[in-house]
Amino acid sequence: MTHRDAGELTPPPATALPPVDSEALATVQHRIIDWYAEHARPLPWRSADATPWSILVCEVMSQQTPISRVLPRWEAWMETWPGPADLAAAPASQVLLAWDSLGYPRRALRLQETAAAIVERHGGEVPDDEEALLALPGVGAYTAAAVTSFAHGGRTAVLDVNVRRVLGRVFAGVQHRSPSLTAAERRWAAALVPDDEHVAWNAGAMELGALVCTATSPACDACPLTDTCAWVAAGRPVDPTVVRRGQAWAGTDRQLRGAIMRALRAGNPSPPVPVRLLTAPTAQLTADESRLLEDLDDPVQRAVLAVRDLDAGGDRTARLAEDLVRDGLAVREADRLRLP
Ligand code: SF4
Repeated sequence: MTHRDAGELTPPPATALPPVDSEALATVQHRIIDWYAEHARPLPWRSADATPWSILVCEVMSQQTPISRVLPRWEAWMETWPGPADLAAAPASQVLLAWDSLGYPRRALRLQETAAAIVERHGGEVPDDEEALLALPGVGAYTAAAVTSFAHGGRTAVLDVNVRRVLGRVFAGVQHRSPSLTAAERRWAAALVPDDEHVAWNAGAMELGALVCTATSPACDACPLTDTCAWVAAGRPVDPTVVRRGQAWAGTDRQLRGAIMRALRAGNPSPPVPVRLLTAPTAQLTADESRLLEDLDDPVQRAVLAVRDLDAGGDRTARLAEDLVRDGLAVREADRLRLP
């Protein structure tokens, strides 16, 4: 149910966590819950028949990936592996193929580990206890809280970057929260969770942060909290120490890792991709290798050429290919590379 703003900001602003007046809190709680009832997007993992497993999968997928990209992958994933036991038994190569281009593919393998642990420790049922969720491999504090609240209706504080931003602006009057979530902020936010309708509070604050109170362009005119928002009351002060963290992508190792993974996915299940086709400068390709490159199936050839375009020297590609092998995302067979 979460959404991450790719354009979050850094460095940390002031981190004051003021006491919150109970009357003001009640007003904000009601308004967020009412706003959510009217404006929540009809996403499938919010439907009444969404299973705890489907919600857990959504929460893992939507960390660091926009909902628009998650939705088709989540639907295909749930059709293929509707329960933890199905995913636990799947070949890793199929899991990575289905993860497609969601990014950070280690999450896919971690999710499979989570599924295996759910089968082994909990008979294939996603536990409803936050501590038991936290004890699962690949499940952090955010995911455990989100599943506790959204899948099981448990009372807890679900704190992603959107919720933290909304609470920080409304109650603390700060434009942006520190990137690190402290235990003190966790306790502060937990005290704001209502006794009733806490699921709608968590989901509503998150949705408001995703759709209205965004990191860079908060639509205060359309916000139900305008007249109670401390940041607005203070004149929307811009923290001068906050600078935009560029979403540098071009030229990064992440971009190149993604391109290598795309080449391996495109090559699956055909013969593994020769490493030198990814790494050797064109002038150093042998005649046989050049022919091999020309004869590759179209999608594989396009993906391999995309890798070559990103790293003409090949050194980085070779290093990152080894990293992928170390991370369990690729397997090296002699001079070739394939999905595990
Ligand atoms: S009034 Fe503006 S800053 Fe305050 S919560 Fe709403 S959108 Fe965010």
